[in-house]
Amino acid sequence: MSEFVENLMKEVKAKNPDQPEFHQAVYEVVNSLELVLEKHPEYRQAKIVERIVEPERVLMFRVPWVDDKGEIQINRGYRIEMNSAIGPYKGGLRFHPSVNLGILKFLAFEQVFKNSLTTLPMGGGKGGSDFDPKGKSDAEVMRFCQSFMTELFRHIGPDTDVPAGDIGVGGREIGFLFGQYKRLRNEFTGVLTGKGLSWGGSLIRPEATGYGSVYFASEMLSTRGETLEGKTCLVSGSGNVAQYTVEKINQLGGKVVTLSDSSGYIYDEEGIDAEKLAYVMELKNVKRGRIKEYAEKYPNAVYTPRDSNLDYNPLWNHKADCAFPSATQNEINEKDAQHLVANGVITVTEGANMPTTIEGVNVFLDAGILYGPGKAANAGGVAVSGLEMSQNSMRYSWTREEVDAKLHNIMKSIHKTCVDASEDYGTPGNYVNGANIGGFLKVANAMMDQGIV
Ligand code: NDP
Repeated sequence: MSEFVENLMKEVKAKNPDQPEFHQAVYEVVNSLELVLEKHPEYRQAKIVERIVEPERVLMFRVPWVDDKGEIQINRGYRIEMNSAIGPYKGGLRFHPSVNLGILKFLAFEQVFKNSLTTLPMGGGKGGSDFDPKGKSDAEVMRFCQSFMTELFRHIGPDTDVPAGDIGVGGREIGFLFGQYKRLRNEFTGVLTGKGLSWGGSLIRPEATGYGSVYFASEMLSTRGETLEGKTCLVSGSGNVAQYTVEKINQLGGKVVTLSDSSGYIYDEEGIDAEKLAYVMELKNVKRGRIKEYAEKYPNAVYTPRDSNLDYNPLWNHKADCAFPSATQNEINEKDAQHLVANGVITVTEGANMPTTIEGVNVFLDAGILYGPGKAANAGGVAVSGLEMSQNSMRYSWTREEVDAKLHNIMKSIHKTCVDASEDYGTPGNYVNGANIGGFLKVANAMMDQGIV
């Protein structure tokens, strides 16, 4: 570790104690940025890196609501407005019991670079709550969302900060949040993305993160003359990102053999085809059931419950060509990464945000596999959110084919930016450096132009 990185990390840890995910995200990025600072001392002089790790604004608030039994519940709400150098803050809301300030700061920090890579004018932000939508009635989720928005509405707006969904925040939650915003402001604007089609949403937004991640994998594979045709793929998660990752892999001729949730995973050697995927979508999006039920419906599949005594995740220890972690942060540790490499995986494409630990990333880089980090590979979701904002401003809707073509082009462009930046800075084929540097340069130049703000 260089002296610059060491000192910076000391300061970040002292100022942000007990936020290991935020430290991890910063460490990964600043390691790559060293290469840029050597070439551009002006960034160092302007303290761009020291400024970029400090959120522009952090909001934390009480969210009281009443459950179906009439009992009062209190959750904590957050919005991190990280960086607005290239556009309004943009990034999702996560509702999950594990949510805390450090996790949202890591996500907001990643979002700054990701949004810059999309080529669209969006700053970075993230928010959410420790509220757990699992097991709650629709009426409880609505009351929570209304209470959450009753504070958040004063801080956001179509030209200020435009939230979207993330873990635990899908179409249902965005609907309740939008309804309350509209009621409080008396305005119908594009203040949230991921909206329903009949009230300002964009075609392909639900599919965008999963499709985009598979487009990115295809671009990486093409650098080695390969395609997804006939490849066996491991996918984790079974939510929005995982579902559309499976759909696109199937369309491109690959075979997906795993899916998971926080209770365990299923392995289906025959592959999760379109009919089985339709079952998963109904199970997860409508019935809100558990992935275990897949193995009851399709007895050839094997369900393995999560075992917290294991120091690895057996999902990543099946023979496969490609892996698409699409559940949550740090779901691939060093041992998992070693299993993947030993089993002959040629590409790991991150649908989730920071699903691989730093030690795991190093295993992939040392093995020379095609490793696409989340901030590049899963940028398709926010990219189509950006397209939803444009359509809202124009009061116009593009067709499914138009949005999909734009998404595909954006993913190709992000891939090219990563490849070019990794080559320009002397580490060809290293998508970690490519994504961090490619995302940083545009934001850094905007910050230089805008003075000390
Ligand atoms: P969903 O809520 O739709 O699905 C999340 C999935 O991950 C569920 O299967 C969930 O299982 C599982 N999961 C969540 N937390 C954990 C955990 N701690 N341990 C194990 N499994 C867990 O979320 P998304 O599909 O939208 O998001 C998945 C990932 O993709 C996240 O990292 C998110 O930040 C990232 N992402 C999402 C984008 C989007 O457009 N939605 C855009 C870019 C990135 P369970 O139901 O049991 O909780």
